[in-house]
Amino acid sequence: MGAANKANGLTTLVGAGRMAFAYPDFAKDIITKGRMYPEKVCVSCSACTQIMRDGGTTGCVIRDNKVYGPIFEHGRMGDKDNLLRLASSCRKCQEPTCQLGCPAGVDIPKFISLFLDGNEQDAYEVLREKNIFPEVCAWLCPVEQQCEGSCLQAFIGDKPVAIAGIQRHLAVQANKGGWSKLRIPEKTTGKNVAVIGAGPTGLACAAKLLEAGHAVTIFDKSTQFGGMVETVIPPDRQGDSLKSEISAIFTDVPKDRMALRLGKELSADFNLDNIMDEAFDGVFIGMGLVKSVSIGDNAVDGVYSSMDFLSAAKKPEKLKLSGKAVAAIGGGNTAMDVAVTAIQLGAQDVYVIYRRSFKEMPAWSAERQRAINEGVHFLILTQPLEFNSANGKLTSIKVCPTRLGEPDASGRRRPEPIESSAYELDMDVVVEAIGQSPPEEISEILPGVELANGLIKTTEGTLATSRAGVFAGGDLVRGASTVVAAVADGMKAAEEIDEFLKK
Ligand SMILES: Cc1cc2nc3c(=O)[nH]c(=O)nc-3n(C[C@H](O)[C@H](O)[C@H](O)COP(=O)(O)OP(=O)(O)OC[C@H]3O[C@@H](n4cnc5c(N)ncnc54)[C@H](O)[C@@H]3O)c2cc1C
Ligand code: SF4
Ligand code: SF4
Repeated sequence: MGAANKANGLTTLVGAGRMAFAYPDFAKDIITKGRMYPEKVCVSCSACTQIMRDGGTTGCVIRDNKVYGPIFEHGRMGDKDNLLRLASSCRKCQEPTCQLGCPAGVDIPKFISLFLDGNEQDAYEVLREKNIFPEVCAWLCPVEQQCEGSCLQAFIGDKPVAIAGIQRHLAVQANKGGWSKLRIPEKTTGKNVAVIGAGPTGLACAAKLLEAGHAVTIFDKSTQFGGMVETVIPPDRQGDSLKSEISAIFTDVPKDRMALRLGKELSADFNLDNIMDEAFDGVFIGMGLVKSVSIGDNAVDGVYSSMDFLSAAKKPEKLKLSGKAVAAIGGGNTAMDVAVTAIQLGAQDVYVIYRRSFKEMPAWSAERQRAINEGVHFLILTQPLEFNSANGKLTSIKVCPTRLGEPDASGRRRPEPIESSAYELDMDVVVEAIGQSPPEEISEILPGVELANGLIKTTEGTLATSRAGVFAGGDLVRGASTVVAAVADGMKAAEEIDEFLKK
């Protein structure tokens, strides 16, 4: 090839190396334009080589940052030497503000110190004491709002200590090394607790009850463990952490200690009374908020609830979005997940339609930025009025501008629609992401359990409900919250149930 080129008066380039990642057209530009463009050339930063060392699929981190930036970052956060360097910026504060920012109250300076001393197993134990699912949480915790956002180094250093990255490394070692497996006492207490809901809060409660020597029976309408993390949270935000952590923790649980009643939905016909009739010694309710709030007609083809859309997106062959216009209604994290997922599935134009301004938007800043980076269009101060359809199929959405008035009960300025300025947008798909709620028949599902605004009321400072022996935690108590808060509730409830069973 080289000889033939030379014979034809062309140049043969030898040893182009990593330039091909940065500037695939460089040879063409030399031959056809007689020059290379400096803004495209390889800057010899070696980040592509680093990705290869870290075990990822490589390319140019500088020129193709959208694709290779996250791979580079992920690889670096899995590299122990790099993590040790990042951990060394921890000041081991006397009053660790980071810990106050963690809903589980993990002793962050302690696990970081143990990690720096090379004592990874003990460091993991510190994490596990407060959070039995540290790998899942290291992926999903909104750390800018929690531990890292509260780290002193965020204010007086260059950047916060990489708490979640170090946590993820330790949890991965633990899950691979068998350190996270449940420690189940040989002798059983003879007590059996029903756990309703196999989401983060139910699983955390079940795990700690098993370690206290009780037997558990887990009920869930789904056939899989994991709750929202399994059903709706997009895979690229959690890697395979849920599967690997659950299988490492629940491996080898003796059959007589854990019974599964999966695919079994509690309803008005099979409710808490029926479960109590089965002579369980205690009950934990962790049923989450799995119903989407809706303003439109979900019978129209093209109108989805956020839960249906995100769970369908986990089997993308079911959702054909290529070239389509998609609107996500709402300004929370769910709307951001919907919008980014739609882009990833090939939608041509994706809109987030939100009736207040950016200032009131509840989505976490990192989630909003992710949507902006993906090219989502934000229609803020815009209120949806109607979904229009023809022959049962969505055709457009009628929206109008809003202006912000006085603050409402939530403390945010109330949007006032300006209907005289309404207009229509052609739309193929609308996804409502305006909130989650419990099922309508919640009172019939949970007789004897006092509710407040549809959520379970628990006695202050405890997770005990108004029905004796029945405890609850997670989203169905707190309202839409976080995985780590749900896990912390489940672990605390297990302690309280254990005390209750000793009485
Ligand atoms: C789109 C989206 C993105 C999110 N992203 C994040 C994130 O990045 N980080 C984060 O920390 N949190 C996130 N969250 C919030 C997080 O998923 C929840 O706070 C957490 O899952 C709550 O845990 P839970 O166990 O209380 O409830 P769930 O996870 O909802 O689990 C409840 C379980 O109960 C079962 N169940 C419900 N009703 C019944 C019934 N009638 N009978 C039997 N079983 C029933 C369900 O099948 C489910 O398995 C997100 C939520 C959504 C919707
Ligand atoms: S559990 Fe979440 S919030 Fe707590 S320290 Fe870990 S990453 Fe931070
Ligand atoms: S606030 Fe930051 S620097 Fe201080 S102990 Fe926590 S992680 Fe370390």
